[in-house]
Amino acid sequence: MPSTDQHGRPLKSLRISVTDRCNLRCRYCMPEAHYTWLPRAEILDLEEIAQLARVFAGLGVDKLRLTGGEPLLRRGIPDLVRMLKEIPGIREVALTTNGILLAEAAPALRKAGLDRITVSLDTLDPQRFLALTQQDRLGSTLEGIRAAVDAGFPPPKLDTVLIRGTNEDEIEGLLQFAFDRGLELRFIEYMDVGGATQWDGSKVVPQREILQRVAERFGAVQALPKTDSAPADRFALPGGKVFGIIASTTQPFCGGCDRSRLTADGKWFLCLYAPEGLDLREPLRAGRTPEELRALISEGWSLRSDRGAEERKRARDRGPLAGPDTLRKNPHLEMHTRGG
Ligand code: SAM
Ligand code: SF4
Ligand code: SF4
Repeated sequence: MPSTDQHGRPLKSLRISVTDRCNLRCRYCMPEAHYTWLPRAEILDLEEIAQLARVFAGLGVDKLRLTGGEPLLRRGIPDLVRMLKEIPGIREVALTTNGILLAEAAPALRKAGLDRITVSLDTLDPQRFLALTQQDRLGSTLEGIRAAVDAGFPPPKLDTVLIRGTNEDEIEGLLQFAFDRGLELRFIEYMDVGGATQWDGSKVVPQREILQRVAERFGAVQALPKTDSAPADRFALPGGKVFGIIASTTQPFCGGCDRSRLTADGKWFLCLYAPEGLDLREPLRAGRTPEELRALISEGWSLRSDRGAEERKRARDRGPLAGPDTLRKNPHLEMHTRGG
């Protein structure tokens, strides 16, 4: 039976972080030299993830997204996709990746039944990629995007975090890259989430500025009607080209948020900004029945009143959500732990 929260929002979408590890160190996500990793013994195995996903599906979740950290660092992702696709009620299983390992993984993921892939791509300049991610791997990400198309996936979406002084001069170039390949790119406003210890309001490139720049280069921008609760606002350009903007920082969309997040060690977070999550690993490993887990999750969701991004927007003296010391003590606050 579908479950709704304190604001009448249904529980429809679950982001599953399959690992907190990553092969990049994006400056806006993992800029520090040292991290506290989740203990291996606490990481859910693939069957445990599938067991929990079955319970969520019974409560109305129909869309799953595998994320991380970098999800393709985890072994057995095609097996997990296969298990998730077999769950009654699951309409879509998607993946968000930095693309580094995608060229090799794409055929097996397609065969396993993965529905969609989103690739993060913040620059087309190899030197800038190195400066931004601390790895000289732009070529691997571009190869990954090509491989996803070749493997027969629907055109992958591209996600670009824009940061003033870093890559906002690539708005036009990145869009052209996407248009030339028939891909839809979404610009993401830089968010003050856990992990973004270098966040500063002046580095956010707001939606209105992006729209202005795009219109100057590509012509009149027309807003498209929202078709679902997806976070991106979508826009059309002359000739039918489409792109998106995820304006989480300047125009939060908490009112329709049907998403929650499961970490690799089984903590369930009801909001990207929530200070705490509900531990599902302990009851799962203690042998609670699916019905008992379902009651736990259903009650948790029914009490949910989170509107994290809206509250952050109202905050005075807005700065990073947490400093490096706090994050090292509580890695669950990190974006790379709770899954972007
Ligand atoms: N490693 C994968 C990737 O980068 O696609 C999946 C996990 S990553 C945490 C998911 C998304 O979160 C990426 O698109 C990334 O750009 C975004 N992200 C991370 N930190 C962010 C921040 N401070 N502001 C906005 N988006 C951020
Ligand atoms: Fe970058 Fe994603 Fe890794 Fe964060 S988790 S450092 S966004 S690749
Ligand atoms: Fe949903 Fe929280 Fe993000 Fe708002 S801030 S859209 S409630 S996850």
